[in-house]
Amino acid sequence: MNKKALWKISYGLYIVSSKKDGKYNGQIANTVFQLTAEPPTIGVCINKNNLTHEYIQESKVFTVSILSTQATMKIIGLFGFRCGRDVDKFKDVEYKIGKTGAPIVLDHTVGCLECEVTGSMDAGTHTLFIGKLLDAETIKDGEPMTYEFYHSVLKGKTPKTAPTYIEEGDKKEVRKEARMARYKCTVCGYIYDPEEGDPDSGINPGTPFEEIPEDWVCPLCGVSKDMFEKFEEEQ
Ligand code: FE
Repeated sequence: MNKKALWKISYGLYIVSSKKDGKYNGQIANTVFQLTAEPPTIGVCINKNNLTHEYIQESKVFTVSILSTQATMKIIGLFGFRCGRDVDKFKDVEYKIGKTGAPIVLDHTVGCLECEVTGSMDAGTHTLFIGKLLDAETIKDGEPMTYEFYHSVLKGKTPKTAPTYIEEGDKKEVRKEARMARYKCTVCGYIYDPEEGDPDSGINPGTPFEEIPEDWVCPLCGVSKDMFEKFEEEQ
């Protein structure tokens, strides 16, 4: 068996959210799909360990925010790598409360769906929730993000259109001269590249890892600086 064939399946990238006891939570999911047209039903597959799973089971509602290709690693990191048990993910994002009372993330969202759970299926590590579509809306213009785009274009890379972008070849030269090592987060795999810095957190391009303030945290998963280790250059 060649499991690499599985990588050829296409997916999108979504934030699936729900509610429980007046609290909100959401998470990144790539397994969201329309099951039937009439009536419109939506399937989402959620890991049983996740807080969103608990919320959906309890409230029997969920929303889906369809992310655009403009979505930043910051929001993907917040909803994808942080746990709602540790952090209020909705504190600093734009959202609204839908008909179901569950939150809908609006940041970098091209469209949203609201569903009421009508059935579910045990899928081992996950539960496949099936929901009747109660409402749907287009939010912003833009291209929906695909999983492929997320991996190949977005992950750990600066877009070519960004002012901080440096050609790979040039980067290696600069690093060699300046002896600035890259550091990798041992929790989520994020790589801090001194040439790029972390402008969202006020770390300018050209800042060596050693000079980043101690209270800086991984922009993806939120762990502290001491969870990073030197990332050796592959030759
Ligand atoms: Fe991390």
